[in-house]
Amino acid sequence: MLTTPAPLPSAQRRTRVTDYDAVIAGAAFAGLRVLYELRDRLGLSVKAFEAGSDVGGTWYWNRYPGARTDTESWAYCMFFDKEFYEQWEWSERYPPQPEVLAHLKRVAERHDLYKNIEFNTRVEAATWDEANGIWTITTDHGVEVTARYFIAATGLLSIPLEPPFPGLSSFKGECYLTARWPHHAVTFEGKRVAVIGTGASGVQIAPVIAHTAERLFLFQRTANYVLPARNVPLDEEWRKELMHKRDEIYAMSCKQLWGFPMEDSTTRFADCETDEERRFVLDRAWEAGGFRFLFQGFVDMWVDEEAARFTQEFVHDKIRKLVKDPETAELLCPRDHRLGAKRPPLGHHYYEMFNRENVTLVDIKANAIEAITPGGLRLAGGEEYELDMIVLATGFDGMVGPLISMDVRGCEGETLRDRLTAAADTYLGIAIDGFPNMFTMTGPKCPGGNIPTTVDIIADLVGKAITHMSGHGYDVIEAQPEALQQYVAQCRRMVEPAVLWKDGVNVRSWLIGANVPGRQPAPLFWFGGMELYTGLIRQVIDHGFEGFAFRSPAKVYGRLDGPPLEARGNVVG
Ligand SMILES: Cc1cc2nc3c(=O)[nH]c(=O)nc-3n(C[C@H](O)[C@H](O)[C@H](O)COP(=O)(O)OP(=O)(O)OC[C@H]3O[C@@H](n4cnc5c(N)ncnc54)[C@H](O)[C@@H]3O)c2cc1C
Repeated sequence: MLTTPAPLPSAQRRTRVTDYDAVIAGAAFAGLRVLYELRDRLGLSVKAFEAGSDVGGTWYWNRYPGARTDTESWAYCMFFDKEFYEQWEWSERYPPQPEVLAHLKRVAERHDLYKNIEFNTRVEAATWDEANGIWTITTDHGVEVTARYFIAATGLLSIPLEPPFPGLSSFKGECYLTARWPHHAVTFEGKRVAVIGTGASGVQIAPVIAHTAERLFLFQRTANYVLPARNVPLDEEWRKELMHKRDEIYAMSCKQLWGFPMEDSTTRFADCETDEERRFVLDRAWEAGGFRFLFQGFVDMWVDEEAARFTQEFVHDKIRKLVKDPETAELLCPRDHRLGAKRPPLGHHYYEMFNRENVTLVDIKANAIEAITPGGLRLAGGEEYELDMIVLATGFDGMVGPLISMDVRGCEGETLRDRLTAAADTYLGIAIDGFPNMFTMTGPKCPGGNIPTTVDIIADLVGKAITHMSGHGYDVIEAQPEALQQYVAQCRRMVEPAVLWKDGVNVRSWLIGANVPGRQPAPLFWFGGMELYTGLIRQVIDHGFEGFAFRSPAKVYGRLDGPPLEARGNVVG
């Protein structure tokens, strides 16, 4: 157990005003959820800054045609508001982007969260003042505010990678990044369109473009395992049934490997005696659709060489059956990694799309894109493609990017940028030693998978940590370096035997940060499953926030009891 200094007797504590108890960067799933936790449950004064012009985050920025969740709608929601959960009507198994955005906006309206959010405002910097135990947060409008707590709810996939193609700015046609899709309508009709990238976004947008474009060229560096989503509308009966199962669905999500409300398979590869039995298990999971293929096939697919090989061949067979042109089918079969090394996209008639006359798959693994030209694109082998539009679905600087895009300085001026680029490590995904009173809502090594589940658990934990502090008279909380290292070692141990680690580096899996040039691959998530993670959290709480140190600095800055901030001229909202 950790020893923590006793809180200072109140007579020795000096108070000075901070503008807010807490400042949050980001106003999407995580920012809204933690804003509610701190303001409504804990009664703190809270300000949130959001770079976009509205709430929504991922669903505000990624408004490309075809964008929709890969989580089933009944688990991609704000779990904390049960009444709202029971009222909201999802239209499909995987809701489209406008519906998720509407869901988040409605939550913000219902709880009057908008009034605490300043839009079109990016947090540029946050600096810790150790002597006084406060953060000073600076926005891109040059406004400075102070707070006891700084909460980064900046997302895991909010910073797209810079497309690495020379000549991009010379292109004379239309060019769009899926992660920064414009608010105006974009038409593909009669156009020659290139989609670059076959990750989740490229796989979602391509079939939509194929419907109306004159030609679609899909440029593929890595063939992915695209799992059939099997999307369907939710009929009245199904919807009604789901709406009343919030508690059950949430409880199930908190137990499942990746936070989804589904049963994990217990069938090991070796449990099946014949290949026919094995195919039966996989077929059932394939037909169930979506991520169910990952979790309801073989439980040991992630680590057992034979199970992984068999699953790989099973998917290859499926691709060969779905894609008529044998050459295209072979190009689409992933050979350089096994399923689980990358985050598999969900397809909405993706493989079937290649049977259209107007769709061409272009392999750029061996023959890379050399340059974007004014009229299109040129490959290293000299082939030229004339294009009217380029759509870039080229990925994100996951987990780390959003945090290091701010200039965060902790104890002794250490920068978060240096810290996280050297090692993408946190304690429990939420805290880093040397950065006291700062919480990350989806920091590196938080549980991966269904993010709303993760965010809900973490917001609750942050709330409990702050309540614990006020109950004990502590002013500063900080992760202990030893606890962080132990947690990180545990994260590593879980990943090292897995396909994700063995194959993921070679195929630049973003789940381990291998897609970011110059970055050392490291697990970006806790892959031990939600049940283990929630157990760990329970243990941390039961043991008085084990792994955290608490202290009260010589000078302590208390809650604002002076005139409201607006009255002091430092108006931010
Ligand atoms: C296309 C796409 C589909 C996805 N589908 C799923 C899915 O099906 N299931 C799933 O679990 N996850 C999915 N994800 C991951 C998704 O990001 C999370 O589910 C969830 O939206 C994360 O919410 P968040 O609030 O943590 O972050 P985000 O939604 O990314 O929001 C972060 C917000 O912070 C703001 N911000 C960032 N930096 C700053 C700053 N310095 N100052 C002020 N504001 C800042 C951004 O503008 C953004 O609005 C998907 C991601 C993408 C890109």
